[in-house]
Amino acid sequence: MTTLPLLPGRCTLVGAGPGDPELLTLKAVKAIASATVLLVDDLVNDKVLAHACPSARIVHVGKRGGCSSTPQAFIDKLMIQAVLAGEQVVRLKGGDPFIFGRGGEEVEHLRAAGIDVQVVSGITAGLAAMGSLGAPLTHREHAHGVVFVTGHAKPGDSGTDWPQLARTAWQAKLTLVIYMGVSHLDQISEGLLQGLPATTPVAIVQHASLPEQREALTTLGDLVHTVHREGLQSPSIMVVGDVVQGARAWASQQQSQHKAALQA
Ligand code: SAH
Repeated sequence: MTTLPLLPGRCTLVGAGPGDPELLTLKAVKAIASATVLLVDDLVNDKVLAHACPSARIVHVGKRGGCSSTPQAFIDKLMIQAVLAGEQVVRLKGGDPFIFGRGGEEVEHLRAAGIDVQVVSGITAGLAAMGSLGAPLTHREHAHGVVFVTGHAKPGDSGTDWPQLARTAWQAKLTLVIYMGVSHLDQISEGLLQGLPATTPVAIVQHASLPEQREALTTLGDLVHTVHREGLQSPSIMVVGDVVQGARAWASQQQSQHKAALQA
């Protein structure tokens, strides 16, 4: 009797998008469906797992896994062991796997263990947040580029030089898209105000792309007050720059359409 050779294990890092399961790519759906093991991060919507094979093993490795947060070294070990055991491993990460969330570090560890990793890009939260407000991140007149920046530095790291970043954004007309910023709001806004006018428009979007999405449009000078007043919390994206005016225009257009529909 001939025995079929075992399929070699594989690992694919898959971006699950910002939350709305319809924002998954077709490639992500295919990868999820072919997985035998899925290691799932915190911010991944459970609805995305409906594409998984019923026999697949699903491991939540974020805060919802039970402990405060699964140590990164443990996640790396789990992935490597599963691949070596011949499993088809999908590492599901919120948004895009290579925008924050340690995707880069995971790939380095897997490659160091001799494992080839495939990557399926996803829609990052910063894109979805502004898209949901009907406004662009770049604009020929208002913004020549975008900076994706974290508001939460690695412990021991001095973190972003906010005054310097603000001066650069002002001179070069750049939009700032700040991830993980709401818990360091005072420091961020104080730093940004050293290089950008207090009137600079800011959008804060919590739970972008999900039914529970909430947002506020404000200015840099009023940012801290607005976030506290509206009770906006993590996970949120903050977008700083003139492109936010587009979100304002869209919001007031929608309001007048709504009013007109009520009066009709
Ligand atoms: N890889 C992810 C980012 C991981 S870092 C991506 O590409 O989107 C986690 C941070 O992302 C959160 O603290 C928050 O700032 C942001 N984030 C993720 N999902 C979000 C969502 N649906 N709405 C708003 N912010 C979100």
